[in-house]
Amino acid sequence: MSNDDIKRLPLLPLRGLTIFPYMVLHFDVGRAKSIAALEAAMIENQEIFLVTQKDSKIEDPTIDDIYEVGTISKIKQLLKLPGDTIRVLVEGLERGRILEYTKEDPYFEVELMTPAAYDKKEIELQLEATSRSVLSAFEKYVKLSNKISPEILLTVTTLEDNERLADIIAANTLVKIEDKQCILESFDPIVRLESLYEILIRETEILEIENKISMRVKKQIDKVQREYYLREQLKAIQKELGESDGNSSEIEEYRKRIEEANLPEEAYEKANKELDRLSSMAPGSAEGSVIRTYLDWILDLPWNNETVDNLDLANAERILNEDHYGMEMVKERVIEYLAVRQLTKNMKGPILCFVGAPGVGKTSIAKSIARALNRKFVRMSVGGVRDEAEIRGHRRTYVGAIPGRIIASIKQAGTKNPVFLLDEIDKMSSDFRGDPASALLEVLDAEQNYAFRDHYLELVFDLSKVMFLTTANTLDTIPRPLLDRMEVIHISGYTEEEKLNIASKYLIPKQMKEHGMADNSLSISDKTIRSIINHYTRESGVRNLERQIAAICRKSARILIDKKTDTVRITESNLEKYLGIPRYRYNKAEQNDEIGIATGLAWTSVGGETLSIEVVSMPGTGKLVLTGQLGDVMKESARAGFSYIRSRSKEFGLPDDFHEKTDIHIHIPEGAIPKDGPSAGITMTLAVTSALLDIPVKSNVAMTGEITLRGRVLPIGGLKEKILAAHRAGITKVIIPKSNEKDLADIPSNIKKKLDIVMVETMDEVLRHALSRLPVGIADEDKKR
Ligand code: ADP
Repeated sequence: MSNDDIKRLPLLPLRGLTIFPYMVLHFDVGRAKSIAALEAAMIENQEIFLVTQKDSKIEDPTIDDIYEVGTISKIKQLLKLPGDTIRVLVEGLERGRILEYTKEDPYFEVELMTPAAYDKKEIELQLEATSRSVLSAFEKYVKLSNKISPEILLTVTTLEDNERLADIIAANTLVKIEDKQCILESFDPIVRLESLYEILIRETEILEIENKISMRVKKQIDKVQREYYLREQLKAIQKELGESDGNSSEIEEYRKRIEEANLPEEAYEKANKELDRLSSMAPGSAEGSVIRTYLDWILDLPWNNETVDNLDLANAERILNEDHYGMEMVKERVIEYLAVRQLTKNMKGPILCFVGAPGVGKTSIAKSIARALNRKFVRMSVGGVRDEAEIRGHRRTYVGAIPGRIIASIKQAGTKNPVFLLDEIDKMSSDFRGDPASALLEVLDAEQNYAFRDHYLELVFDLSKVMFLTTANTLDTIPRPLLDRMEVIHISGYTEEEKLNIASKYLIPKQMKEHGMADNSLSISDKTIRSIINHYTRESGVRNLERQIAAICRKSARILIDKKTDTVRITESNLEKYLGIPRYRYNKAEQNDEIGIATGLAWTSVGGETLSIEVVSMPGTGKLVLTGQLGDVMKESARAGFSYIRSRSKEFGLPDDFHEKTDIHIHIPEGAIPKDGPSAGITMTLAVTSALLDIPVKSNVAMTGEITLRGRVLPIGGLKEKILAAHRAGITKVIIPKSNEKDLADIPSNIKKKLDIVMVETMDEVLRHALSRLPVGIADEDKKR
């Protein structure tokens, strides 16, 4: 180190500032010691040593408070400001390190050392490389930071002197005094650049994190602001529209309703919880309306509403009679049922199930029971229900979820103890969405239904006070476990006589009342009613009959007003004017004895029917063709019958190989209606026999019965409906299996009187009664007897 390198200069401590070589800076000086230093410098060659003090707050720093490295600077300008302050403009010249303080008063004076010179060539490459790294780090830093003007970047990139790079960047970008000082203290240019590089990398990372945080915050603030803004707008709009901001008053309203609704504890808590959620929600939000719907459901349910039962049996009987003609057995069963329920003082026990064809009064007897008990009545059809959720509801997580139909019906009833009719439980089906029957089972089970839980409500509702009744057209398709819970009451179809009574005593007065007609304004003779029954309806029940009567009432009402008369008289001759051309001209059975046509009796879910069976035989190869939508059981039954005929071919006088040379076609008209069951066995066999033997079948005979291979006749079901159907069709002789004799008790005696009912055990007997003449073989057998 040569002596030249040592300088002695006055020292001025800088507060919060760092000056680098080549940098021009101005600052204000107020401290006496600093002014003295300035003055001393001005006397000499205007050079002064500027060093940062470690803590800018210290007013009167000692040697220890001042860094060791600073910048030798040239004073360019001094400006006296009011109040003993001087503004100084300086330019940094080069670094200096304090070797020794030579004076401390009235100003600091130091001896200092400047950086040693070095061989630029030697470090050129390294310098270039480090500079590049610094530059790229700096660029990245500038991009992230929006505080640095891009001009600096421009200056820096176009800078030719790599030695100065670090100083310029440090002076312009670094904030922390320590960082700047660190750069200043690095006398070696490579070390200086490396230090800067580290600092830049660190700062960039910090900036990245800062940016991330600020983005997040900004997003949140944006959202909140947006919502706030929209909500304010909404309020303004509502105000304009005269709708007060509703929310708080609505919450109050709900709160009041919840308090007054006398809810069970669980429901009360749930309702309050939901209400709290609602109150914290923006008015008009989608979620809000979901909660509102939910609260409405809870509040509208009759948690504690009950009607008081009228337990007077005589009253019940009176009401049942008032509403229904006949049905003696049914009424009796209902009264007994009510009596038992009264004695046991609860509604547990089997559920009544009314089974019968449409229109026989199943629904209306259920309504009467409700009326007799003074209970509300609700009806829910489960026909076609295939989804468990229809019974139990959808969970509220589904969009547009609603409670199941059970809860909906209870709400409709408005009491927790209505008479609840589950209609058409035989038409329920199940698929992948769950089995509605098992859900229904739970509803009907007295052991479980006090705690029925709907998926939507997520609350327990007590169904144990409900009186459930069910209806079905047939028992065949009711799921077994469901059937086991129920007490079945069959309601059979009506005879013409009964229908006549029902029409004149119940349906006509009822319809007249419904159409606002005075008592004597319509007269329909019994004969006319019969004609309506026979020519305009064809049913076991009276639903269509009621519809036709309603049609007559409608038209009569119009005539009463148009023609200004007091009475309308409906007669057989003007009936067509009211109801159009008769729909059914069946009187019905085939008029003449025909070959290959026999009349069977069938029992379908809509009641009894006559079924005409046609057979033709033709030369062929022994095919047996069956058409008319016959089920498997029916087809097998036809084959059994055919085998019986083959086994009797000798008696029937048929050639041994007839079955190989003849094709037989059995057809049952009205092909659109599927038919099945074994009970047409004897009818089909008869028709085939008739066709093969060319013997006509008597046209006034109808029959029903299953046939075995050996020609025995087995019993069948639905006898009453079948016999009524035969009677309706004008048949005079009915052949039934002997084993069905016991069922004859159910059949009204006036019908029995009009019909010749013959009971048979074998197919031979059927032939004897139904063929217009006997096959030779059979006739011979008879003679031998
Ligand atoms: P279902 O439910 O069996 O299909 P409904 O109960 O709907 O039949 O009966 C149809 C109409 O016939 C109702 O208006 C009902 O009042 C009437 N009805 C049925 N049977 C009788 C009856 N025995 N006495 C009086 N009206 C009857």
